[in-house]
Amino acid sequence: MIKLPGDALTNDEPRPVISVAGAKPGPVLFLNAGVHGGEYPAVEAVIRLGKTLDPKKISGTVILMPVLNLPAFRTRTPFVCPIDNVNPNRVFPGDAKGSYSEQMTHALIHEFVVHADAYVDLHGGDIPEALVPFVICRAGDDAVSKKSKQIALAFGLPYVLTVSKPVQPAKGLSSYAGAAEKGIPAILAEAGGVGQLQQDAVALLVNGVKRVMKHLGMIEGKEVRRSQTAATVLGKFEWLYTKHAGMWYPKVAPGDAVKKGKQIGTVRDLFGDTLEKIISPVDGVVLFLTINPSVLENGLLMGIGVE
Ligand SMILES: [Zn+2]
Repeated sequence: MIKLPGDALTNDEPRPVISVAGAKPGPVLFLNAGVHGGEYPAVEAVIRLGKTLDPKKISGTVILMPVLNLPAFRTRTPFVCPIDNVNPNRVFPGDAKGSYSEQMTHALIHEFVVHADAYVDLHGGDIPEALVPFVICRAGDDAVSKKSKQIALAFGLPYVLTVSKPVQPAKGLSSYAGAAEKGIPAILAEAGGVGQLQQDAVALLVNGVKRVMKHLGMIEGKEVRRSQTAATVLGKFEWLYTKHAGMWYPKVAPGDAVKKGKQIGTVRDLFGDTLEKIISPVDGVVLFLTINPSVLENGLLMGIGVE
């Protein structure tokens, strides 16, 4: 049970952390979930790996934290931490003198991530979101970005997205980019969503982490399942928002291909009249989708991956 440093975290409930020290020397892999509190398949994948990884078969050490954003997990709060209303995945690598989320991410990076050889941050769709499984890492020709992309491909999900700038304007970066900035190869993998515990999503994430361990030389190949298809690599992440608050009626599902200029949904008011037709600005594939019909002004509707 770990108490993270930081003034804002003094009264925190301690966080469970599991360290699996392998019988043979090798790299250190740091793995966490629960940067967002309602992404349960990711949390379960870390719990399951912590219970089942066999140290006798491992070269190196795996350190696992099932839930970083424990205040959000306890209160079923999507996207943000309820203590400061900040999305922790927009303030990496954190700030030791900042708000709760900034101190929490600062502690995660400095107490754990910078001591690892690789970092895997597990996510999924949050409580109002559905998605197709995908991995994100930093784009670039530098050694850390190249290693991150190799880890992302090794994870074995259908889509790998390499991004060169933050997807939303924010004070900081997402986890994988914050870690890469500190010189640690890192990925963010997503599966499952809508506030539920999909077993197929848990299996994808568990197997993905094992595939990364094999890629890093930490376990033998017979411990992992082969991926069915080669990943599609995407180079841009386009997020769509509604201008108006209202009821959201998408015409697409996660995984659907969309065409530039085509209508992919409608936002209506509470009389049933159309406020806004949502038109795809790009050719691409829907990676995540807001499935709760109630949307706010400037509310996020979906993320489209572009080749
Ligand atoms: Zn998330």
